[in-house]
Amino acid sequence: MSSPLSFRTVELPLRHAWTIARGTSTVKRNVFVEVRSGGHVGYGEAAPNVRYGESWESVEAALQKLAPVLEGRDLRCFRDVSEALDAALPDNPAAKAAVDLALHDLAGKVMGVPLYRMLGVDPARQPVTSMSIGIDVPEVLAVKVREAADFPVLKVKLGSGKDREVFGTVRALTSQTIRVDANEGWKPDEALAHIQWLATQGVELVEQPLPAADVDGAKWLKARSPLPLVADESLTKASDVPSLAAGFHGINVKLQKSGGIREALRIIETARACGLKVMLGCMVETGLGIAAGAHLAPLVDWVDLDGNLLLASDPYRAHPVVGGRIQLGDGPGLGVEPWAAT
Ligand code: MG
Repeated sequence: MSSPLSFRTVELPLRHAWTIARGTSTVKRNVFVEVRSGGHVGYGEAAPNVRYGESWESVEAALQKLAPVLEGRDLRCFRDVSEALDAALPDNPAAKAAVDLALHDLAGKVMGVPLYRMLGVDPARQPVTSMSIGIDVPEVLAVKVREAADFPVLKVKLGSGKDREVFGTVRALTSQTIRVDANEGWKPDEALAHIQWLATQGVELVEQPLPAADVDGAKWLKARSPLPLVADESLTKASDVPSLAAGFHGINVKLQKSGGIREALRIIETARACGLKVMLGCMVETGLGIAAGAHLAPLVDWVDLDGNLLLASDPYRAHPVVGGRIQLGDGPGLGVEPWAAT
């Protein structure tokens, strides 16, 4: 018997060099999955991130191990399949997310309904997504801010040691609401000083100011911060959530960190039970991965689903974004097909 799962890695050049506190990249290599059953094809995407120990090579190796798990199963029972994948191979969240997204896409196509209908989610409650501005020199920051003019909210990357210059350049160019992401780039004392200043600059929240390992620092900072603090690198799975309430006001869930939709939903519900706010974010992904997040987005407070907009070109026919809101439409499953298929 052969597996219904196939995959390939695609090189995705970025529109601008992408710099955050950890480093710079100009190209991404994501792995695209197809799951076939009953004349339908489900599409999924892995956007591996070195911060979480993954690469396109590790994703391909994981998918080689996961493919046999799908053989002979009723793929409409995607929750059972997802649990079998977890049992077959620990960790590897991006690889599992790719399979999980493809299974949800396939199930939606078999049933003829969009994923948001399968989840009981109201697409009219789609929050606006922020548009991310990577760390850069002032001239390029000006181009990025101009390109993001249609988005009501910006997310500015900091943590480089030139934070006042980078933030000040963006703030001088626009009155848009700004969220800040330090990507673990600060120490507690400097984080507090930056956050107290940012609170006077029209900033809505600050994401991951300190290294994830600095649990005591996070508690110290939360007790003093005038702005909401959101955990990103500190969170991958639902069991991480309860302890994060001591150091953060909210959490950033991403399908590529959680291993897909099943665990992402569990993270969202756990966060709500712990009284935490929820952001739904992304890696640098195509319109396919972004679509999967958008189907869940009405469940959260803050949305950051802009990864495909950072690409030079998108191999998938992404849902349009109007006034910062992703327009999901009524196509079955994720509702996104590759351009090559049209
Ligand atoms: Mg982040």
